[in-house]
Amino acid sequence: MLDDQIIVLDQQHIWHPYASMDNPPPAYIVASASGVHLKLRDGRYLLDGMSSWWCTIHGYNHPRLNAALQQQMQAMSHVMFGGLTHEPAVELAVRLANMTPAGLDKLFFSDSGSVAVEVAIKIAIQYWHAVGQPQKNRLLALRHGYHGDTFGAMAVCDPVTGMHQLFRDTLPQHLFVPAPPAGFERACTTMDLAPLAQLLEQHQHELAALILEPIVQGAGGMRFYSPQWLRQAADLCREHHVLLIADEIATGFGRSGALFACNHADISPDIMCLGKAITGGTISFAATLTHGHIASTISNGTAGCLMHGPTFMGNPLACSVALASLELLQSNNWQQQVNDISEWLNIELSPAQYCDYVKHVRVLGAIGVIELYQPVNLARIQAMFVASGIWVRPFGRLVYLMPPYIISKEELEQLCRLLLQVLASYHKSSHHVSPMS
Ligand SMILES: *Cc1c(COP(=O)(O)O)cnc(C)c1O
Repeated sequence: MLDDQIIVLDQQHIWHPYASMDNPPPAYIVASASGVHLKLRDGRYLLDGMSSWWCTIHGYNHPRLNAALQQQMQAMSHVMFGGLTHEPAVELAVRLANMTPAGLDKLFFSDSGSVAVEVAIKIAIQYWHAVGQPQKNRLLALRHGYHGDTFGAMAVCDPVTGMHQLFRDTLPQHLFVPAPPAGFERACTTMDLAPLAQLLEQHQHELAALILEPIVQGAGGMRFYSPQWLRQAADLCREHHVLLIADEIATGFGRSGALFACNHADISPDIMCLGKAITGGTISFAATLTHGHIASTISNGTAGCLMHGPTFMGNPLACSVALASLELLQSNNWQQQVNDISEWLNIELSPAQYCDYVKHVRVLGAIGVIELYQPVNLARIQAMFVASGIWVRPFGRLVYLMPPYIISKEELEQLCRLLLQVLASYHKSSHHVSPMS
């Protein structure tokens, strides 16, 4: 197909994320991707600052990940998980159980992050049902949280910034607590925890679980908060008999500077969700982990089992490539990679704090955020990023980088330099342009 044809047919037939069909936003045609570069059909290369939404931690088209897929393909690409099992699933389960916080050794494999969250919610509700407290069936969530786009997950996203206000009347009504005060380094006071403590006190009789993104609130605002807050929140949950669900779909596998963000606070949540980077960005896959006593309580409840079982559960290709990704994480020394990126991001992004259109610059692990005062016009700024040879996709007032861990110092410096240049020229030329135009 010719490039024009692809674009026309794409616009005629395909929804893109949060996009209009009648007035479709521009899309660029990717021909291939390798390492930290996307190659467009017109021959241009873009230096990737997004890791395709936190996923491609080892870069694109990695030979070891490809080899794992090819090898598994020779045996089987898929087989149903009802009544059957296979070595890649078992090996992956053992590996994940060993690397995640203590006790999380019962795993449910599903095919996307949102489904992993649905499963986590089901586990929490089924648990309280099984212990004879079925009235404990509501969730408590943080404002500015994001947990996915399916109905159960939407219901625990921030009711305002969560993009799902439209569905408010059809969603189960859960409870929300103000987001923790910003700042990874912040020393927490009892005041900081007071709203959570109060809600738990008032509603513990009807609450199944608190669900949160540990340390980094991603799509709901790219906010960082303190491990002390998280640790005290975990204590409060335990005291009030409310389960804790840690949604590590964005933070898992090193992104925040710890292998799992829960490790910053040295906690083991009752339930943990993993996704995104789990296969190194190769195939959609996710996992929900919980503790033995929860799994066994559910298994001894009236249902006798966990009521979930997706068609592509435990897909062998995904399990094999996830194993290869975990091996790479270790052999590449992810901690060193992420520490280096953190240091470079701090140096390279800090000049932005002096720009009058910049509200705040923050870095944690391999995440760099430039928060602006005004939302950007996405189509316009994206065209400018592409013209300068980088792939960055802001949302609203947030321009952020989460590059693949394999990015070199020179590449990261270039990425940041070009990013700041584009921001400067965008703001120089946009005085009379409203964000919506
Ligand atoms: C992306 C994300 C999800 C949803 O995952 P999908 O694979 O898009 O369904 C859930 N929670 C968090 C924290 C995420 O970042």
